[in-house]
Amino acid sequence: MTESDIGVRKALRGVAVSPGIVIGKARLVDRSKVKIFYQYLLGDDQLNREIERFEEAARTTEDQLNAIKNGMPEQLKGHSFILDSHLMILKDSMLHDATIQRISKEKINAEWALKKSLEEIRWAFNQVDDEYISNRVNDVENVVERILRNLSGDEQQSLSHINERVIIVAHELSPGDTSELNPSKVMGFITDAGGRTSHAAIIAQALQIPVVVGLESATKVVGEGDLLIVDGNSGEVIINPDDEVIIEYQEKHLRHEKYKSSIARVSHLPAITLDGHPIVIKANMEFLEEVTAAREHGSEGIGLYRTEFLYLKSKELPSEEELFQDYREVAEIIAPEPVTIRTLDLGADKFASRHEIDREANPALGLRAIRFCLKEPEIFKRQLRAILRASFYGRVQLMFPMISGLQELLDAKEIMGQVKDELNRENIEYDHSIKVGIMIEIPSAVTMAEILAQHVDFFSIGTNDLIQYALAIDRVNEHVAYMYQPFHPALIRMIRQVVNAARDAGISVSVCGEMAGDPFCVCILLSLGINELSMNARAIPIIKKIIRTISIEEARADFENVMRLSTAKEVQAHVSNRMKSLVPELAEKGYFEGWDYLLD
Ligand code: PEP
Ligand code: MG
Repeated sequence: MTESDIGVRKALRGVAVSPGIVIGKARLVDRSKVKIFYQYLLGDDQLNREIERFEEAARTTEDQLNAIKNGMPEQLKGHSFILDSHLMILKDSMLHDATIQRISKEKINAEWALKKSLEEIRWAFNQVDDEYISNRVNDVENVVERILRNLSGDEQQSLSHINERVIIVAHELSPGDTSELNPSKVMGFITDAGGRTSHAAIIAQALQIPVVVGLESATKVVGEGDLLIVDGNSGEVIINPDDEVIIEYQEKHLRHEKYKSSIARVSHLPAITLDGHPIVIKANMEFLEEVTAAREHGSEGIGLYRTEFLYLKSKELPSEEELFQDYREVAEIIAPEPVTIRTLDLGADKFASRHEIDREANPALGLRAIRFCLKEPEIFKRQLRAILRASFYGRVQLMFPMISGLQELLDAKEIMGQVKDELNRENIEYDHSIKVGIMIEIPSAVTMAEILAQHVDFFSIGTNDLIQYALAIDRVNEHVAYMYQPFHPALIRMIRQVVNAARDAGISVSVCGEMAGDPFCVCILLSLGINELSMNARAIPIIKKIIRTISIEEARADFENVMRLSTAKEVQAHVSNRMKSLVPELAEKGYFEGWDYLLD
């Protein structure tokens, strides 16, 4: 967080977790913690009464959580699992049973015993240096705080009573607090505490109100009734702005609203071509919090979950439990649509410098992705267990990256078989018919596509790497960036070969590289026979809109013309002309520029 005074402009900067801009009056809400006192108890009677008092407070907490869950606004229904996790924490033996044992063994009051249980849980979580896990500790703290409040008989005022148009300023809001907010009244909220992955942030996104967290001193600096500008896009909060600043942000707000409504108008329309062919449009994602945005932008599932980022975030490798919880949440939020979880693709530009992987001279050609996993079967197995376990909670598909030939695929499947056997022995549930696919992103896999197709349920073409390896250009080297050619005739022939192999084997094939979300590439991908695309969520409304202007018959007829062209430049010129005649707005801006204007 930073704090600054620019003339009369006093500003704070925190973490933007839910987009949008609001200007309104501050309402400070006190969610301060209950004070706890130590008490030594005497005699069995007193101890039994104390245990009963704790049980009673736990039951009240359960009732309150259920009441919040049942009263959740319609747009939050998909997030009730967050309250379910609080209900589970409430019953967890580390919290519930351990507190009762402490009361009777240490002869202490319920509050003190609960505090000690929380300290122990905190200590256990602290062993893992990771933002995601530390946010889960916040969930435990929220539950404990609620029990403590019920023990003290001090009922905290519910935020559902706020019925003026205000911006809430709090030290911290629990997911329960956030779920009670009335989004037609509360314009947004800002907090001192919190991070990007906190559940309160996820709920705020679903409520579609701007939120900035992690401001550290908001409750000290902002006074009741102050005029605030909250910019949930940049993380900036401005206190008592002057007229000039207000006008500046009103304009920003209007631009954002215009963009949002243009998306809302078109994003949920299906991607069906003019001649009635449905094209499946999915989103790529890297972080749990992106799932909601994927839905909002009209995706029909997650076509590529890049799982590296949980591994890159901390010094320690994530635990199976942490991975499982993350994958399960994604699967539950996106259900009934599917999510394709790609196994670890560490290496190359996604280098796990914090893990013990040697620096290599040619990382893109080195111990990367599936090669790394096959060399480190324990790391691989841990992730496979987590993915398989999560498959029980939604529609999960599993995908191996960087497969270069059949042996590698068989080796990966063999390890997966071992993991399934382990889970069977342990009676752990998973989807026994989970679909398994591979990324086609190495030229040798293209050549072998016909054979590989016999062993998998689907292909997903990773054009980012396929271009890199087919044209021998390092995708992160700026000196050869000009050679990065999605329209290279070699690439077009490769995609065609993969599509044919998939069609002959009766398996599905999609494209999940950047090409899938590039308006200039849609037509050519459809003409090659692709009917599933997975892309950056923001590109979805535009790509869907373009698809609705294309006739698949015409696109396929054009394929012969494209095949006669022999340089990337010729193909690009041909495709650009076609696209500009289909979607004239494309002519207004150059290739690879921002495409938001297409939605106007
Ligand atoms: C690709 O290579 O096209 C791809 C989608 O994977 P990544 O960008 O993660 O390498
Ligand atoms: Mg790749």
